[in-house]
Amino acid sequence: MSGLGDVTARIAAAEAQAGRAPGTVRLIAVSKVQPLDRVEAVLEEGHRLFGENKVQEAAGKWPALRERFPGTEVHLIGPLQTNKARQAMALFEAIHSLDRPKLAQTLARLAQELGHCPGLFVQVNTGEEPQKAGVAPAEADAFVAECRALDLPVMGLMCIPPVDEEPALHFALLAKIAARNGLSGLSMGMSDDFERAIAQGATHVRVGSALFGARDYG
Ligand SMILES: *Cc1c(COP(=O)(O)O)cnc(C)c1O
Repeated sequence: MSGLGDVTARIAAAEAQAGRAPGTVRLIAVSKVQPLDRVEAVLEEGHRLFGENKVQEAAGKWPALRERFPGTEVHLIGPLQTNKARQAMALFEAIHSLDRPKLAQTLARLAQELGHCPGLFVQVNTGEEPQKAGVAPAEADAFVAECRALDLPVMGLMCIPPVDEEPALHFALLAKIAARNGLSGLSMGMSDDFERAIAQGATHVRVGSALFGARDYG
């Protein structure tokens, strides 16, 4: 048994606590690095939305799993290099790591060529950490406008708060930037803080270890 029942119940309780309608928060089961049998267990329990943070790793496991479990959706939640953008557009229903103009331009060109584009979330570096991807909060409005001018389907914003700060402040900042840009999607909250993210309006929580158990990077 995975932690699916427990995490689903906690999401429902957090929705109710925040006065939000049941089912308004989508659970992205982050399956990166997890052994296949744990991923299969969650699929067999009926879950159909997963997150991966590497294109190569997703390419190695999801085409076969999709065949066996129809209706499965996979989102890219990790950084995307432009030279892997074409492959990513074929593999994922959504990309949560749109973080720079060059990537926006590449995705726009490919979308024109292919006639479709995954849903996109702009990653915002709410803690302004030098080592972390994402546009700075002060640049987010201009970058969202630039993506829209390229006809990209921007669904919302995504953030990964600094490990040593209260995440609720970062979730609130992301929600504020989304609201003033007319964006309804908020990809925020992980195993340790998804309830706090739901309280601040998260529409997509990305939960790995609380569902599957600890990742073993061996
Ligand atoms: C790994 C990862 C997660 C899930 O982390 P857990 O703490 O295991 O829930 C969420 N978001 C991103 C971007 C990740 O890389």
